[in-house]
Amino acid sequence: MTIKDKIILWYLKKIYLPKREMFYYPGFIMENLGTKNIYLREIAIPEDLIINIENKIQEKIAYEIGKKFGWYYAFSSKLPRINEIEKKKFLEYANFLVKYMESVSYGKNLKEKIDYDKKVFHLFADEYIVCKNNGKGYIFGSGGIAGIWAYVTNDKTIEGIQIKCVGKGNKKCEFICAPFEFLKEKGYKPIRYIELEENEIINKEYSEINKIRSAVWAKQSLKSLIDSKIIKYQFGNLIYKNEKFCLVDSLLMYLIEDNIKKIKNCEKILWDCSFDFGRKLVRLFNIENVEKFIQDLFPALGFGDIFIKKEKNKYQIFIRCFPWNKYEIEFIIFRGILSGLLSEFYNKKILLKLIRKKINSEDGFSILIGN
Ligand SMILES: [Zn+2]
Repeated sequence: MTIKDKIILWYLKKIYLPKREMFYYPGFIMENLGTKNIYLREIAIPEDLIINIENKIQEKIAYEIGKKFGWYYAFSSKLPRINEIEKKKFLEYANFLVKYMESVSYGKNLKEKIDYDKKVFHLFADEYIVCKNNGKGYIFGSGGIAGIWAYVTNDKTIEGIQIKCVGKGNKKCEFICAPFEFLKEKGYKPIRYIELEENEIINKEYSEINKIRSAVWAKQSLKSLIDSKIIKYQFGNLIYKNEKFCLVDSLLMYLIEDNIKKIKNCEKILWDCSFDFGRKLVRLFNIENVEKFIQDLFPALGFGDIFIKKEKNKYQIFIRCFPWNKYEIEFIIFRGILSGLLSEFYNKKILLKLIRKKINSEDGFSILIGN
């Protein structure tokens, strides 16, 4: 690593990131985008869950989720596009972005190589998030990177492939993102996905519904969990024992569910993966009171303010200030994880259904789930 690279990384980790991430409020994790007062609602999502989802759904679907996510993330972040700035600035910005990805622990020792005129982006990594474990990595890897590159180059035909992967036994992970035709000429078989819109997701409605409101029930923020050393925070990653939670835009949860909606069996797969992760949490943490555990952990992970009412074996779980997005989803991931947790803890099936969802000024976006 050159000295300049080291300085950039130091700057990102010490100065830039702490200012961007806001995690002092129970129920909320926010990321400030750039200089404007625009905040993204983030959640901490277990890496293990993404690994399992990718292992079980078709690669094409995982890739599409990733590309859409990368595209909208770049869009919301207002990343500069190729036609808006001069070449030198564009390349500098791309380099900064790669350093940023490294600083939030997406990969180790990231390096990029860019062919500006052909719009080819090469990324090399000693290892990369998710794919190092499953040899796939479509959501954060090939798909996600392609989405960002497609946005900044203003070219929806950009697709991404991973040509080497630590998870497949190679020494490094290597990605190429380039126009579809270019990749085909080189003999690769990229997935094609161009249904990306120039839509503003972070608008007035988003900001109003997702804005920080004082918690009524939640006591723990991510900050307090980190301070009490329950969870270790390492540059964008939360680590508990060996379990890693990645801080991501909550849009990802919506895109995963929205994209699998119409595909046979996918909702069941997503539910099972989430349910299994919930069960795993019981084995991982030393839980004495599962209801308290849920009310402490999930607000700190950014899922809102949670109240649990239990009468005999009937649960009503009310979550206010749940991260909102315009996509209509059934909250399979969230309900699945909580159902798995309760079921494993009590050693009987407790399946939480969606009872209702609502938006108002007091609670922001709220959902009620129960069995
Ligand atoms: Zn890889």
